[in-house]
Amino acid sequence: ALGRRRRAEDRVRRIAFYDDITGLPNRASFHDRLQAALQDVKKNQNHLALMFMDLDNFKRVNDTLGHSTGDILLKEVSKRLRLNLRSSDEIAEGKDIYNNQDLARLGGDEFTVLLSEINEPNDAGIVAARLLSGMSQPIPLSGHEITVTASIGIAVFPNDGQDAETLIKNADMAMYFAKREGKNNFKFYTPNMNDGAIRRLTIENELRRAMERGELSLNYQPQMDMKDSSLCGMEALLRWDNALLGSISPMEFIPIAEETGLIVPIGEWVLRTACTQAKAWLDEGIDIPRVAVNVSVCQFAQNNFPDQVNLILHETGLEPMYLELEITESVLMKDGEEALNTLQNLKDIGVSLAIDDFGTGYSRLNYLKKFPVDRLKIDRSFICTINSDPQSLAITSAIIAMAESMNLRVIAEWVETEEHLTCLKKRQCSEVQGYYYSRPLSKEKADDFLIENSALCNGCKKAQTI
Ligand code: C2E
Ligand code: MG
Ligand code: MG
Repeated sequence: ALGRRRRAEDRVRRIAFYDDITGLPNRASFHDRLQAALQDVKKNQNHLALMFMDLDNFKRVNDTLGHSTGDILLKEVSKRLRLNLRSSDEIAEGKDIYNNQDLARLGGDEFTVLLSEINEPNDAGIVAARLLSGMSQPIPLSGHEITVTASIGIAVFPNDGQDAETLIKNADMAMYFAKREGKNNFKFYTPNMNDGAIRRLTIENELRRAMERGELSLNYQPQMDMKDSSLCGMEALLRWDNALLGSISPMEFIPIAEETGLIVPIGEWVLRTACTQAKAWLDEGIDIPRVAVNVSVCQFAQNNFPDQVNLILHETGLEPMYLELEITESVLMKDGEEALNTLQNLKDIGVSLAIDDFGTGYSRLNYLKKFPVDRLKIDRSFICTINSDPQSLAITSAIIAMAESMNLRVIAEWVETEEHLTCLKKRQCSEVQGYYYSRPLSKEKADDFLIENSALCNGCKKAQTI
């Protein structure tokens, strides 16, 4: 009877403290073990390293080959980890026993390793490198050869944290950085990973659901023709209002959206929303010459981008001549031939093209002749110093002259003051955009602006005919 009770107890313990797929200690035993190891290491004043490991492509394996294959993979990974965690002495002695208290599976594809008796932090790096290289051999799995890689973050007691909670948080953070820097590598925690990284992680997580939660909207900033101060376009600018983060500048979240690929669905939403709005204005009898939409490099690089534009124009019923796409110089520099092709396809649809932030990249100016663009937007950095920095003025004048010789339109953005305006007028810049005329406007405010503006214009047309 005693034997049976013992066996039952063992089973309960196994279920409570071990992971049934890999047989490794689970999250609960990892926490116990970490607490105990911290007590020990505080006594003997040694170092203790905590590693967080996450497989780089496990989700794809699971999704494409199924969960049972995923389970086999996890077993194989844990076997390799165990094998490579043996100390060199153990390997030399041919031992294959591993005290698996120090390796745990937290769940999913996350593993932890505790190195409790290391002399210096760098030792953890040696172990991490060994774990990664042990992993890199292909694994035969249901007829496929699969190579798994992993990213590892390391936090060391006492430098990176005095308690379990801090060490866990920092190892996790370091792992996130390892992933960001191209995966299949390890990173030690450093204090400067913290604040920025947490904000970035939060932005990334919140942004994933921003669209379905309806947190995105567009503002519209008027673009004015210098000749008669009439409206010549509206630039659509993305706005994001989030419950947790408040309103976040596109300067901050667009780069994150680009890094994570989220810009593709978001950019499509922007395009569709802007086209729908432009069509609505036109249907209401408001004569907007065009709406300009910013297009990110990532969107532009998709090979079906022109098809997407075409489709959205059809869906919304907006005529192509009312749409302008703003792309940055870097798009053209990335892959000249490929870019030229895409630009040509877009031109064939009938939309117009502007180069945003012009003058900042090292545009191959002679190349510009080959690209079928309609308009250059002089970068803000030249305009805002146009009255104080002779170089800015020289560059601005040169861009305007060059554009004229190539039959391109030029628009200056970030025009804030009367002085900017006067200076640009003198240099015969064709169009301007900026706070001097108007800030970016919500849809409602843009309605007001357009109504007022068209009343003004009708007024001046009448005045002319009289
Ligand atoms: P951008 O396309 O060069 O847009 C012009 C930015 O300058 C806008 O900032 C606008 O609000 C601001 N601005 C315009 N006139 C003035 C002025 O006179 N003074 C000052 N201080 N600022 C002025 P915003 O809206 O914060 O957008 C920043 C950047 O974010 C944009 O630069 C663009 O690169 C990107 N962005 C915005 N919306 C989208 C979008 O829908 N898709 C993509 N891919 N990028 C976007
Ligand atoms: Mg722009
Ligand atoms: Mg710009």
